[in-house]
Amino acid sequence: MPDLPILAWLLILSALVLGILAGHFGWGKRWTRGLGSRSWGSRSGGSRDFGKLHPDYLTGLDYLVTEQPDRALDMFLKLLDASADTIETHFALGALYRRRGEVERAIRIHQNLLDRDELAPEHREQALLALAQDYLRAGLLDRAEGLFQKVAEAPRLRASALAALRGVYERQHEWRQALDAYRQLAHLKSAPPRLVAAHYLCEIAALEMERGATDAARTLLRQARRETTAFPRAALLRSQIAERQNDRELAIRLLRTALNECPELLPEELPHLLALAGREQRDALLSELVAQARERGVSDLKRLVFAAIAADLSGAAPLAGALESVFTQDPALNAVWQAGRGNEERVAREVGALLNHAERYRCGECGFAARSFYWHCPACQSWQTFESYALVKLR
Ligand SMILES: [Zn+2]
Repeated sequence: MPDLPILAWLLILSALVLGILAGHFGWGKRWTRGLGSRSWGSRSGGSRDFGKLHPDYLTGLDYLVTEQPDRALDMFLKLLDASADTIETHFALGALYRRRGEVERAIRIHQNLLDRDELAPEHREQALLALAQDYLRAGLLDRAEGLFQKVAEAPRLRASALAALRGVYERQHEWRQALDAYRQLAHLKSAPPRLVAAHYLCEIAALEMERGATDAARTLLRQARRETTAFPRAALLRSQIAERQNDRELAIRLLRTALNECPELLPEELPHLLALAGREQRDALLSELVAQARERGVSDLKRLVFAAIAADLSGAAPLAGALESVFTQDPALNAVWQAGRGNEERVAREVGALLNHAERYRCGECGFAARSFYWHCPACQSWQTFESYALVKLR
């Protein structure tokens, strides 16, 4: 076990030794209330002298020292007593193995506990929850789901099991079930922010749209908007419905609402918005967008200009002034701009080519970078945490 920090092994070893000694010497027996201590001492009827340890314990230690962790674990599990005194040792050891990714060993520990008839009901529930977490870590989602559902029936661990179930359903894209778990958590006052429920509703609405059930999708989007104020995703999906129904004006209005509330969508949605507006309205719309971005500040103007450049719009007349402002305000960009004086459009095109190969977004929670916008971070599973991040390496 060379990769486990020595301190961690010392801690496990001390916990095991304490657990085994507690069982061996009957420490804390007054709390076991006739659960039936099964320490090796009482089973074997052997001596309870302080100076003598069971030979299996020494064999277990020997396996540990000679780096045979599974054999060592076999021995220790055989010796460990599942009474109230040592139960925490089992859970701590199991959790440690799981955190290290040694899931099979964690499963063996928790399964070993569950096999004991004398296990108190609350410890059985806890062991089931731990085993479900092991399966989750091992990627055995179906097994994890079944166990979490079982644990959710126990009032004491209901919130933990439902929270885990919500995560399992998210990973499987089972949005209706995720929403159901969310509602139950809300009932227990343990739900995450309502934004999460709004996104589940949007996921379900998008599925309804895919199968042509527009009315059902609209109802779900209305529900989503009730969950949270200023919810750009609902406006975006609603705009797509309007477009399908050939209501161009409404589609433009809703898409602009979405972009106002979530300017991060600009790189993906600007070409779409301009296509909806059509050639004759394009410049008027771009002028409005530039004026609006200027009002909101430098970073918004920069985002609009970069989105326009990436969409090969750098030659559009309403952008000329904005391009100059953005390029001359940034020291690195200014150097390129000045070098290309008289040929600004080519400079913008070259920057656009770089932008199209750059990772344009980054998750504000975990730092995951991507070229496409995600409402749900694929790395840390947070909702609506993607930020614009156009890193152009010019030198
Ligand atoms: Zn993330």
